[in-house]
Amino acid sequence: MRYRVLGHTGLKVSTLSFGASSLGGVFREVDEAQSIRAVHISVERGINFIDVSPFYGLTQAETVLGKALKTIGREKYILATKVGRYGQEMKDFDFSASRVTASVEESLKRMGVEHVDLIQAHDIEFGSLEEVIGETIPALRKLQKAGKVRFVGVTGLPLAALRTVVEATPIDAILSYCHFELNDTALADMIPVFTKHRVGIINASPLGMGLLSNRGAPVWHPAPEEVKEMCARAAVHCRVRGASVEKLAVQYSLTNPDIATTLVGSANPKNMERNIAWAEEPIDQALLAEVLAILKPVHNVTWPSGRGENN
Ligand code: NAD
Repeated sequence: MRYRVLGHTGLKVSTLSFGASSLGGVFREVDEAQSIRAVHISVERGINFIDVSPFYGLTQAETVLGKALKTIGREKYILATKVGRYGQEMKDFDFSASRVTASVEESLKRMGVEHVDLIQAHDIEFGSLEEVIGETIPALRKLQKAGKVRFVGVTGLPLAALRTVVEATPIDAILSYCHFELNDTALADMIPVFTKHRVGIINASPLGMGLLSNRGAPVWHPAPEEVKEMCARAAVHCRVRGASVEKLAVQYSLTNPDIATTLVGSANPKNMERNIAWAEEPIDQALLAEVLAILKPVHNVTWPSGRGENN
């Protein structure tokens, strides 16, 4: 496993990291023992960065992750969680100082830890960016002074929203998802903005939340139909070539040295073993060129998220 420094934080994170949303059963029903094993295998094989949120499985992911972390030394992992998002509806977002402050305490208790290394405002495009900048982040900085969190970040889909926050106030890290993967590389164009501000860059969802997999996207997936279709076509192409679209997708997500880490998730330990092994192998350049050609018609085609003005 290789490691890269996350922006100015000094945190040395594994280039492939563990996203715990699967532990909340967001993709399918999951088995708790298997989920715990997936975390343990990941850490044993060199992953040291773990990301979760109270939103995933409506606290289930944090609860299961807490059980997995019980038997792992605290120095072995860098832990990130989130605040502000607590459900699917607009009404389930609350970025107020009082809610996010209480939320961190709840997450610490749920996971059985004294601090988290990174606290992130979750999916900021669903809130008012003025509130995120003027109220949420200052509240999180207070928790930083109190030793409950070490660094502060923001997450979201529209890169424009992440940019607005980064340019308005000091931020330690951003988490972008579905924007550096085989069918979408929009994050690469925004990297100069983030590096100028010495912001750590976290990439998430190398499989496009299931788009780039043989199982295909889950029913709730927000991508337009043509993106789903082309990604399914790419998966078939890999299969016919005796290859795996998941492998190509994981490897591709690790190719940009300015991205500190890429979060991949699975509650299946075998999948995590495979993902980690693939990260060490060279990418098949010929297959990559063929798949990029298939996906070209939908390159960077994304979907709206949150408030219109934040897209
Ligand atoms: P992903 O692209 O990692 O895809 C996950 C899906 O792929 C799951 O169904 C999983 O079982 C499957 N999978 C994983 N490895 C596989 C393999 N080797 N073979 C076959 N299938 C495999 O998407 P994700 O889980 O959404 O993203 C990873 C993490 O990134 C999340 O858990 C979360 O921590 C983070 N994330 C954060 C945000 C945000 O903050 N807004 C958004 C998206 C993701």
